Amino acid sequence: MELLEQIVRAGVVGLGGAGFPTGKKLDCRVEWLIVNGAECEPLLRTDRYLMRHNAGRVVRAAGAVARMVGAKHCVIALKRAYTEEWKALEAALVGEGTVPIELFPLDSFYPAGDEQVLVYEVTERVVPPAGIPLDVGAVVSNLATMNAISDAMDGIPLTKKYITVTGEVKRPTIVRAPVGTSFEECIRLAGGSKEERYCVIDGGPMMGKVMGYEEAREAAVTKTTSGIIVLDEDHYLSVLSKTPVGRMKRLASAACIQCSYCTQLCPRNLLGHPLEPHKIMRRFAAGGDIPSLLDDPAVRQAAICCQCGVCEQYACPMGLTPRRINALIRDEMRKAGIPYERREALWEADPERRNRKLPTKRAAARSGVLDYYDFEIDTLAEAAPSTVRISLRQNMGAPAQPVVQEGDRVREGQLIARCPEGKLGADIHAGIGGVVTKVTDYIVIEARG
Ligand code: SF4
Ligand code: SF4
Repeated sequence: MELLEQIVRAGVVGLGGAGFPTGKKLDCRVEWLIVNGAECEPLLRTDRYLMRHNAGRVVRAAGAVARMVGAKHCVIALKRAYTEEWKALEAALVGEGTVPIELFPLDSFYPAGDEQVLVYEVTERVVPPAGIPLDVGAVVSNLATMNAISDAMDGIPLTKKYITVTGEVKRPTIVRAPVGTSFEECIRLAGGSKEERYCVIDGGPMMGKVMGYEEAREAAVTKTTSGIIVLDEDHYLSVLSKTPVGRMKRLASAACIQCSYCTQLCPRNLLGHPLEPHKIMRRFAAGGDIPSLLDDPAVRQAAICCQCGVCEQYACPMGLTPRRINALIRDEMRKAGIPYERREALWEADPERRNRKLPTKRAAARSGVLDYYDFEIDTLAEAAPSTVRISLRQNMGAPAQPVVQEGDRVREGQLIARCPEGKLGADIHAGIGGVVTKVTDYIVIEARG
């Protein structure tokens, strides 16, 4: 079977966060294949674990994908500070040989793993605003995705996730969990929460989704879950995530001093993109509801914000929320059917960019998670849940359609939901064997003997 078909059949999606179907992304011919091992979110350790323990599998998949897409250059990009990981990958490269794969050293800055930032670091080419790496001859795939592709090459579908479970837990660890495992079970495998009531960040502290206690207790692992960070229920990030729009506006009017630090440190602005959050804040603070601001070309640039959070969790001295305001504007543009219009230009990075990179540790400090930054996490806990609740919305594009019904007995790895014909999406397979007890937006499987 062709590699692309193996990837599609295994239901592989991008495991770096967005969940774009990998079979679709890699159906291309490119000059550069970049494997993203930056893992730039301050507390996540999953990709580093995979580099140390699964380097051979990652390198094998990278070589196979590089051949498939016809890449002249194949690089695995990782921080130069990851010495153990560097050694493990170098050792694995010795055996590969058929496609030259290079390791590319990155500084320890955030967001080194942002696709457009990474492409610039490696190739010195600027992906145009609202563009994709393919526009400059590159494709970027996350390192954990390569691990999943290696499984796909062995006929193993994507049903298990490696997840960093850290923060206010007793034993921070990597958990390998079937998709659909409850967050509670993952936290239990990390020794349990130190807090009676807590909030959870699904992902990293800069870009992850903050969940309150009740929501976290209902949450289950999806293909895109990369981190479960347990924090005090009243942590700064929890409070920030709950700021209502009205309060954001009042704060912007009262406190935005137009210092433009948010723009000066914005990673997309530093790539030369015309995104200037301080101008958006000026318009937002001046009044009017969001739909009334959409005629302003400066406001429309919110569409090219990557939601990295540098502006609000690091740059703004007044504690304002340009990232969240950009997200609201982008939603309104989508609702109103307003497309992003890119002017023709030669895109060049700001010459100051090199001096304005945000050190990852400072990002952790400003986000209030420095206490967990230096955790060495090198243990693996295997989850063996008795029940899984598998969402049919696991990826970018259309939700999968169930091909099982209540009462069916399924085995681990069996196809349980299929990508709708002709749509962007991915198949879903059972993470455990058992009996299907519910089919709604979720498929529930109980591991009965
Ligand atoms: S979140 Fe802020 S810093 Fe990041 S891209 Fe958007 S405007 Fe720029
Ligand atoms: S950094 Fe904060 S205060 Fe300064 S312009 Fe941006 S939003 Fe306003």
